[in-house]
Amino acid sequence: MKRILVTGGAGFLGSHLCDRLLGDGHEVVCLDNYFTGRKVNVERHLANPRFELLRHDVIDPFKVEVDWIFNLACPASPIHYQHNPIKTTKTSVMGAINCLGLAKRVGARVFQASTSEVYGDPEVHPQAEDYRGHVNPIGPRACYDEGKRCAETLFFDYHRQNRLDIRVVRIFNTYGPRMLADDGRVVSNFVVQALRGEDLTIYGDGTQTRSFCYVSDLVEGFVRFMEDESGYPGPLNLGNPGEFTMLELAEKILAKVGGPSKLVYLPLPQDDPKQRRPDISLAREKLSWEPKVGLDEGLECTIEYFRANGA
Ligand code: NAD
Ligand code: UDP
Repeated sequence: MKRILVTGGAGFLGSHLCDRLLGDGHEVVCLDNYFTGRKVNVERHLANPRFELLRHDVIDPFKVEVDWIFNLACPASPIHYQHNPIKTTKTSVMGAINCLGLAKRVGARVFQASTSEVYGDPEVHPQAEDYRGHVNPIGPRACYDEGKRCAETLFFDYHRQNRLDIRVVRIFNTYGPRMLADDGRVVSNFVVQALRGEDLTIYGDGTQTRSFCYVSDLVEGFVRFMEDESGYPGPLNLGNPGEFTMLELAEKILAKVGGPSKLVYLPLPQDDPKQRRPDISLAREKLSWEPKVGLDEGLECTIEYFRANGA
């Protein structure tokens, strides 16, 4: 049994990770400032003596005696990370510094939730870990992309300079229950719009592609990487290599939900990546990991969640 800190633990991915770690018998300290996370995501653990919930901002230093740290704190949807972009950069950079400082002090293994956004609007397809990316450093997505890139730099410098035991994962679009209905990400937008009988908002012509990973597959990858004793620090892509246009996604969701919704076309946001698909050869080789939940099955669980939660 380990004592584990999960920053951003009340968010979408963080709360699923807390469920998994508690289920595996570990002690979990969940730290969150509730910017995009919610207490309700972890409330069933509040009576569990192996669970602790701290309201705290990762920008400010924190001390807690732990064996492992998962650093997930950062808004992940474009609407939320662009709401206060300076705060987003601070969260990524100072959050990383505070997690790394703590890991150094207590000798913990430390995990960073990085992102496929480090590849920007990629000119290489699919994206493998050795691709260095095509990022606009001054655009509206830069607070997130460059904040995450700087966090990766810090992780690798602490690894080289202080021999810190790090694990850096580049997460590709992940979806599932507990996404916020209003955070603007495409799967939750389309599902909620379809359930409400509203039109589905396609940005641009809908031919841009993404690869969608179901949350349980991703969490399995997180845990395998953290348990891996080979010392491989990453970066490691985790995602589902199935690739779909936004039009294909919209049609799938419409077919599953039914109802009167149609497609409406809105302008494409600036710097929106045209294509994205992970090369997961490294995760297959290092962790024998690959996703098991296909898009149809995952969408059905997600639709069920939003239907039950009054979308
Ligand atoms: P989320 O917004 O649901 O979760 C982020 C959590 O961090 C929330 O609980 C939020 O309240 C908390 N948080 C934000 N700023 C904070 C701060 N300054 N101090 C403390 N807590 C703070 O998003 P998510 O999808 O669960 O993403 C989790 C992590 O995974 C993020 O770091 C994100 O960048 C990364 N990621 C997610 C995806 C995805 O598709 N879901 C893809 C790539 C990377
Ligand atoms: N998108 C869309 N309609 C929406 C929300 C998003 O067409 O209502 C598109 C968006 O332009 C992008 C893709 O869906 O091309 C994925 O967007 P999301 O914000 O989920 O993730 P990211 O762009 O960060 O990969």
